[in-house]
Amino acid sequence: MASGSRVELLDFDRAELAAELEERFNLPAFRARQLIRWVHKRRVRDFSEMTDIAKPLREAFGDAYSVYRPELAERQISRDGTRKYLFRLEDGSEIESVLIKQPDRLTLCVSSQVGCAMGCKFCRTALMKLKRNLATHEIIGQVLAVQDDAAELGLDFHNIVFMGMGEPLHNFDNVLRALRLLNDELGHDFSYRKVTVSTSGLVPAIERFGQVGAPASLAVSLNATSDDVRTALIPINKKWPIETLMRTLHELPLSSTQRITIEYVMLAGVNDTDADLQRLPGILHGLPCKINLIPYNENAGLGFKRPSTQHIARWQDRLLSRGFNTTVRWSKGEDIDAACGQLATQSSRQKRVGDRSAALS
Ligand code: SAH
Ligand code: SF4
Repeated sequence: MASGSRVELLDFDRAELAAELEERFNLPAFRARQLIRWVHKRRVRDFSEMTDIAKPLREAFGDAYSVYRPELAERQISRDGTRKYLFRLEDGSEIESVLIKQPDRLTLCVSSQVGCAMGCKFCRTALMKLKRNLATHEIIGQVLAVQDDAAELGLDFHNIVFMGMGEPLHNFDNVLRALRLLNDELGHDFSYRKVTVSTSGLVPAIERFGQVGAPASLAVSLNATSDDVRTALIPINKKWPIETLMRTLHELPLSSTQRITIEYVMLAGVNDTDADLQRLPGILHGLPCKINLIPYNENAGLGFKRPSTQHIARWQDRLLSRGFNTTVRWSKGEDIDAACGQLATQSSRQKRVGDRSAALS
């Protein structure tokens, strides 16, 4: 939380900041509203620019708090306009965020952890294992840093997905705080419909997500139609199998217009058989959902293949004809390794190459 002896202001949501300011400075709640507006909406980092706050108080805030930005270590721009940001954190860890260019909009994909503990067999981030959770200021810092960069180009984005490195629901408290800040109308003011948290299926955390009314939409990586295959791909399925996961999703409090996104990474010959296609509608029956088919982005050494485009199109047609709103997520930024499941930092990649050559020699 601290930077030197100063505390990271971006670690507080509005309610927490009001409590902090009252306790530390005996200040009324409107001061928290002012600060939230300055640092999140206007992206101001220097307290001396906060002109509606008297100078002595600005100085006291400046002594007490710092306003975080991650260090931009590298920015790559893909042929399709997608921008990948490599950020270096204060402990030297590296994380990636991707600003995805779609025909009609920009979507920011953020990381929630350094690495990931879930160990999915098809995912490159899994190879890093979990190094640590990101603090709230490191999650929100990605959003602000990319907004700073995009603003220079006159660009803005209105959608955020928690689909970068990490399992967001495994870092529940910090992600929830970040979601509240993103949703705060005085701060980032993203509607819950525009922020999507993707989970590999951590059932207790999904229940909690519903109970606390997290201001975001949920996406679930189903990725298989039988427990045998799903457990082989996503080890936590052993603990929370498909039926348990589906029951939990059915019980989530959703408004009548809210849909859960069911993600299905298509792996040739593994989870894309005719039997899978037949089972999927039954599994999703009655769930307010939309299906997102994700053509696999091949990672050298992991051994999975992407099915043909025709095959993916056939799945989409069939699911549409069964009444499921089904889209195909053609990944962006593949030429810069920014596509889904290809995120792992440069240093961990170099390390693996090193590991491999050591093993060969
Ligand atoms: N940890 C979360 C969010 C990050 S992964 C989760 O697993 O849901 C975001 C999505 O990318 C998930 O649906 C995951 O199944 C998918 N994915 C992982 N590796 C992939 C790859 N190589 N190609 C395509 N999708 C991949
Ligand atoms: Fe983690 Fe998601 Fe990758 Fe699985 S797919 S290892 S949960 S980032």
